Amino acid sequence: MLAEMPGVVVLGELRHMWERGIGNDELCACSTPFSECPFWRSVGDRAFGGWDRLDVERVLWLKDTVDRKRRLTRTTRRRTPPDLRDDLLAYTGHYRRIYEAAAEVAGASVVVDSSKVVPLPMALSHDPAIDLRIAHIVRDPRGVAYSWQKSVARPEKEGESMPRIGLVDSTQNWVVHNMSMTGLRYRGVPVHRLRYEDLVRDPGPVVRDLWRGLRLPGSAELPLSDRHTITLNGTHSVAGNPMRFRTGETTVRPDTEWVGRMNARDRRAVTALSLPLLKRYGYPARVREVPA
Ligand SMILES: [Zn+2]
Repeated sequence: MLAEMPGVVVLGELRHMWERGIGNDELCACSTPFSECPFWRSVGDRAFGGWDRLDVERVLWLKDTVDRKRRLTRTTRRRTPPDLRDDLLAYTGHYRRIYEAAAEVAGASVVVDSSKVVPLPMALSHDPAIDLRIAHIVRDPRGVAYSWQKSVARPEKEGESMPRIGLVDSTQNWVVHNMSMTGLRYRGVPVHRLRYEDLVRDPGPVVRDLWRGLRLPGSAELPLSDRHTITLNGTHSVAGNPMRFRTGETTVRPDTEWVGRMNARDRRAVTALSLPLLKRYGYPARVREVPA
């Protein structure tokens, strides 16, 4: 949806580009392989003089060194030792060049990287040349756990499916991920929190609040044709949920399948494992109170 706003370019989950785009030449959201996509070619040329000039092994080594959950104890600090700082800036420099090149190629002033996990923005927060702002989207952890159990095909590769995660792991990830967001605030990064359920129920005002909350430039208006309908013109999202391939007139609506389909024992387990964060985000402990 954000890609439809003037002055915005979305890149998808850029953190996966090293392996999936450059490494495996998987499909861009424009349905061409990464190496053939004109957008990503231009970005690679501007950023590095071509993707083949880039030392991907080195980037992956740096990723392992500064961009993993287990590294957060070091990267969340306000002061970092010089050796760590060198690795952080070497790593984030790659992202900065890509963001700058993408903004130039698309003529955009806002670049959206939906990499999702906290270790990447924590690393990026050390680079003073990156004007980082975070949209923190939370979803009811019971809906998250239900969705992670579904089998979803990967359009990028025939016969492959999205990974599936069990209830306990999904809920642990949810708690750790959302708690880690506090670390970004601690490091002085502007964070605006919104709920998935509110966003899909009424996208216009929620995006307006997000835009103003993060003081982003340009119009704060989603080009909706009515309250729930938007025409998606396609993006060059490099990796992410299979819905990145969707184009055309699209109705935005909440995915509430779990409310009726998730069994009570599973629901109770996720509720117990996610309290009190669940309540802090305004989700009811008793699921039947969730409006369908
Ligand atoms: Zn493309």
